[in-house]
Amino acid sequence: QESRTLMDESAIRRALTRIAHEIVEKNKGIEGCVLVGIRTRGIYLARRVAERILDIEGAPVEVGELDITRYRDDRPQDAAASPKLESLPFPIKDKRIILFDDVLYTGRTIRAALDALIDNGRPQSIQLAVLVDRGHRELPIRPDYVGKNVPTSKQEEIEVRLREIDEEDEVAIVHP
Ligand code: 5GP
Ligand code: MG
Repeated sequence: QESRTLMDESAIRRALTRIAHEIVEKNKGIEGCVLVGIRTRGIYLARRVAERILDIEGAPVEVGELDITRYRDDRPQDAAASPKLESLPFPIKDKRIILFDDVLYTGRTIRAALDALIDNGRPQSIQLAVLVDRGHRELPIRPDYVGKNVPTSKQEEIEVRLREIDEEDEVAIVHP
């Protein structure tokens, strides 16, 4: 196995700062916006971007967490388990949701997240932010905000390390 760094700590910081600015720009402020992180690393990304938005706008933005493990349509063994939204302690009706995940690949996780969110009330809109888009989509899903586009082969893997749980910030590509 061979690993190559794609983003170091400052590259990740700059990408998240840029995404925070893009969110504020696209939504003409942050009124009605809610950031929702997909377990596990999407949650840390959402929290970091919320801090940047507070710096930019001087106003706090709500952050929620979503665990959609049981919604994945390619994991039928989990289908019987109750597929409910976890840890989203506020109503999302008429909100602008900005979903966060670390890596976007086939799009199936996001499709499942959309199901979970829409089950929970009718948001005004849903946007998607990812740290890395590695391609290979199997569904018509595209991100609104991207930290870095990384063309990959299916054999390669993106390693996302965030200091909240991994001691340091780094994005690397791992070749088999
Ligand atoms: P998808 O559902 O789009 O196929 O895959 C996206 C989900 O799987 C994300 O939640 C992401 O965390 C994880 N994932 C898919 N590919 C990778 C990858 O190469 N590296 C990492 N770290 N996560 C991945
Ligand atoms: Mg994930």
